Amino acid sequence: MNRPAPSTSSPAAARRLLSAAAVCLGAAVATASCTAAPPAAPADASGQAAPTPPWDWSEAQVRSAVDAVRAGRDLNPASWPNGARVAVLLSFDVDNETVQGLRDGTVSVGPLSQGEYGHRVALPRVLRLLEQEGVPATFFFPAWSLKLAPEQATMVKRSGMHEIAVHGWIHERNSELDGPTERRLLEQAVAAVEEIAGERPVGYRAPSWNFSPNTLSIVRDMGFLYESSLMADDRPYELMADGVATGVVELPVEWILDDAPLYNPRGDAYSPPRDVMQVWIDEFDKAWEERTLFLLTMHPHISGHRSRIVALQGLIDHIQAKGGAWFGTHEAAARWVREQAGM
Ligand SMILES: [Zn+2]
Repeated sequence: MNRPAPSTSSPAAARRLLSAAAVCLGAAVATASCTAAPPAAPADASGQAAPTPPWDWSEAQVRSAVDAVRAGRDLNPASWPNGARVAVLLSFDVDNETVQGLRDGTVSVGPLSQGEYGHRVALPRVLRLLEQEGVPATFFFPAWSLKLAPEQATMVKRSGMHEIAVHGWIHERNSELDGPTERRLLEQAVAAVEEIAGERPVGYRAPSWNFSPNTLSIVRDMGFLYESSLMADDRPYELMADGVATGVVELPVEWILDDAPLYNPRGDAYSPPRDVMQVWIDEFDKAWEERTLFLLTMHPHISGHRSRIVALQGLIDHIQAKGGAWFGTHEAAARWVREQAGM
């Protein structure tokens, strides 16, 4: 996930994005996935039936809207591999040019160059740190990010410890697409990533960190081992669709565990890297106490700058000094979770 610049790059813009997503979901639910019939609405002056305002929804409508995608059982294991008390899952969404205008067709040279920094400078720097620390991570690629710089797959695979997963076709706003288009784009993204990386991705992260009414069924049909875009818990959990368990493992994300809103590359709400590091250290320490999961989302073109690599290194050093943590890819964590839960 990443914010497009500049309109959604500040926390205020992030709130607008989130509320827009909520409006979209509400609209989608009311039209496409709501199983309860809406009450008859009065016609306005043009003769069009006005949508029923949510305060007049029936109980069945509200419950149906909420239950479309919901958290099911807690899948946090009693312990993680090697008897660890907490799992540390570092992820990098390698968005590069796709979020610098490409996904919306608003191409401009300056922003594109910032995306180019992602694969030319930032990804190699991130990989050097991870390899130096012996820490695995998962790299979620929009297919076009990899197609524009396929050498990134070779770089990521060099150490043999990282995972390559899929993050859409061109970082499309999947929650706004119709079902057939969303499915086509994800299928062609998986095929493109497989062709370039030499391995079929088993993990999915939605480009919008949001679902359309069709996303969950597409993810389930395509047989992904896990999904990592939603926020109903700090712990891994099973996704429910209309009250029915789906067998899809969710490895949850969170905006305060994402470098994009905290660092805001456009600069109107800049956070010093060492302050961001402290937020993440506090998040990790609580995960350690609670014996759960610390999952961090970063972007090479954001976190791969020099001052921010210092912050990431500080975080990794803190985790390693504390002990009892297992660093794994999302794939390894999902396999462990499924095995422990008998899925
Ligand atoms: Zn992204």
